[in-house]
Amino acid sequence: MMKIDIGGLKRDLEELGRIGRDENGGVTRPSFSTPDLEARAWLKARIEAVGLAYRVDGAGNIFGRLEGADTAGGAATGPGSGAAGADRGAPRPPKTVMAGSHIDTVINGGIFDGALGVLAALECLRVIKESGRRLARPLEVAAFTDEEGNLVGDFLGSRAFLGRLKRDVLEKELTSYGRPLKDILKRTEFTVESILNAHYAAPELEAYLELHIEQGPVLETEDVPIGIVNNIAGKHYRWCSFTGTASHAGTTPLELRQDAFLGLADFALRSTQLVATHHYGSMVTVGKVQVKPGVFSIVPGQADFSFEFRSHSAETLKTLERVLFNMADDIAVTRGLGFSSRIVDETKPVAISPRLTEILRAECQKLGYPWLMMPSGAGHDAQILAEVADTAMIFIPSPDGISHSPKETVRWEDLEKGANLLLQALVRLAT
Ligand SMILES: [Zn+2]
Repeated sequence: MMKIDIGGLKRDLEELGRIGRDENGGVTRPSFSTPDLEARAWLKARIEAVGLAYRVDGAGNIFGRLEGADTAGGAATGPGSGAAGADRGAPRPPKTVMAGSHIDTVINGGIFDGALGVLAALECLRVIKESGRRLARPLEVAAFTDEEGNLVGDFLGSRAFLGRLKRDVLEKELTSYGRPLKDILKRTEFTVESILNAHYAAPELEAYLELHIEQGPVLETEDVPIGIVNNIAGKHYRWCSFTGTASHAGTTPLELRQDAFLGLADFALRSTQLVATHHYGSMVTVGKVQVKPGVFSIVPGQADFSFEFRSHSAETLKTLERVLFNMADDIAVTRGLGFSSRIVDETKPVAISPRLTEILRAECQKLGYPWLMMPSGAGHDAQILAEVADTAMIFIPSPDGISHSPKETVRWEDLEKGANLLLQALVRLAT
């Protein structure tokens, strides 16, 4: 049985993890930043070093490809390339089996989120190539651009890969740096146009697999090395404001105030209470708050905040959208405030392909690894790709549940198991 080399994978992770080191001991490598450009060059060199060919699409997604026995060589198969009669002329090229994740990070993140899925997939392809075994289907490792959503919305790369991005959003929305996307693209070879056209070069997928750290405490608590994901939560993400009147903190009686912050406080508490009691398992979070004027002795006249909720059920997401924003309107009326909001991003919950979870379970059994079926509360590129192909995710434990932090870590023996499981699943899917 083929096995991955954990020593080599560890070296790769540590090497990539040195690119974008920040002064707080973490990694700050958002897509198209200077460290990200360096990381891209590093990854392309690594792909070539193991003897694979790389290509980059118009959205900056990087792919390394190992041809299958039945492939003539071309990766691109446009929508019109499949002849209806399989017997006549050139047969339709076999679909690609893909595995990967992302190499961008949040600000002050860790070295494993994303990078682990890309480098483990690359290690799997290296092992398969060096074994000399020629599998029927082509295999690709993928690193998708801006999974973390530092530009415009999450999953820019995988959404571009599918052709699901809107020109309007790319041209008009501001990035999290407050600058338009086209400004940030200036230092790269990419344009809004090339991002919108990226999907024309995408191969047809047989399956997409993603190995990832759990980013939560469940596997560690249960003392199980492998999580097989059966559902990825959907998310609804808005930027909201309560507006009132800024007034003097010493002279405005409590009952005459229009305190925007109190509107937010009330909403945060009541929405959390509602989700906890009526929709247990769903999440609601106020993550970023800006109070204006933000002065010591002034009653806040405005409170701007991010508001998100997540659920594994599409129906619950719909219900929450209705109920929560009605609640915000009610609170505004009661407190003499205004309330407004705009949708920043939305993703649908995704049920993972039973065909793939079955394969992962069977391979765990063969390898003798304990596993746990579990949902993912965090979003991943796999969720986007699920629209066009069977996708699955393998989790390994996150010690102390920590992620998006310099303290993010893994146990190497867990990673070895996760990567070996990925390898066996890839071989099986490509055979
Ligand atoms: Zn990630």
